[in-house]
Amino acid sequence: MNQQIEQYAKQILAGRLLDRADIDQLSELSTAHLDDLLYWANEIRKANFGNKVKMCSIIPGRMGGCSEDCAFCAQSSYYDTAVDKTPQVLDDDQIMAAAKEAKQKGVPNFGIVYSGKKVSPDELDRLIALTRRIKDELGMGVCMSLGVVSDENMQRLAEAGVVRFNHNLETSERHFSEVVSTHKYEDRVKTIEAGLAAGMGVCAGGIFGIGETEADRIDMALELRRLGVDMVPMNFLHPIEGTPLANAEKMPPREILRIVALYRFILPKTHLKVAGGRVLNLRDLQSWIFYAGCTAILSGNYLTTAGRSVEDDVQMLNDLGLEAV
Ligand code: SF4
Repeated sequence: MNQQIEQYAKQILAGRLLDRADIDQLSELSTAHLDDLLYWANEIRKANFGNKVKMCSIIPGRMGGCSEDCAFCAQSSYYDTAVDKTPQVLDDDQIMAAAKEAKQKGVPNFGIVYSGKKVSPDELDRLIALTRRIKDELGMGVCMSLGVVSDENMQRLAEAGVVRFNHNLETSERHFSEVVSTHKYEDRVKTIEAGLAAGMGVCAGGIFGIGETEADRIDMALELRRLGVDMVPMNFLHPIEGTPLANAEKMPPREILRIVALYRFILPKTHLKVAGGRVLNLRDLQSWIFYAGCTAILSGNYLTTAGRSVEDDVQMLNDLGLEAV
């Protein structure tokens, strides 16, 4: 057992947060001592979350035709991908039917995700009414991902019953401008702060495998810790034909586990949700994510790529002695 990793883990279990120098040292040790890192990440997960795993299911309320140019995204209208350049918007009945199906399958958290920089005032009114219906008729918590939202509108969403708002940083401030040019990193920080100010849970994380360095990964984790988000979605690039990152190298499964475990050490009490790219990149090692410190999964299909069935994920959690909440 590596003594330094053990010492850091025991300090975290006693309530200390690692500083940048500690994290850099941990990162240097992490590849050569991956088994030790995973062992302790699992201990930190168990101490803070027990056997509970959050399961979310999302539906693309609006798909494609996005005005933004995120280099990893199939929905950007800048790139010729399999996703239609005309946005496809689901109507109320389609969204209600998807929420009902998620509930029947035992998924407690339902998210509505919109492509695009922001939603129009009329669309926001419709989504607020839908949130109330899902809450009243199905008793489900609703999460939203709507792009940039003002402080005032974030308050309205919170009052309607949106329990968590998703808005990712995607990567570090330094790397952001290398993968997105149509909006700024600060815009993303502002929307995250608006969600937090409205008293909602905020789900904010990013994507790995987009040319970032280890320092970029650590910077993003520390920024998320500074902001105080309660859930960090971790996406691992699924290269999309037609995007600038179509030929990016796929991340090896053990490298993904290492990054999840490193985040568990940096963010000991924050939910870590392994989301996009889980199936493609982790293959047979999917169930190891919990041993690396993951406490949440996105189940069912992702926005533009196929995921795994909810039934298979529920079975995986049962087999591991974990409970979906
Ligand atoms: S990540 Fe979001 S903002 Fe960026 S192109 Fe895709 S849908 Fe648009």
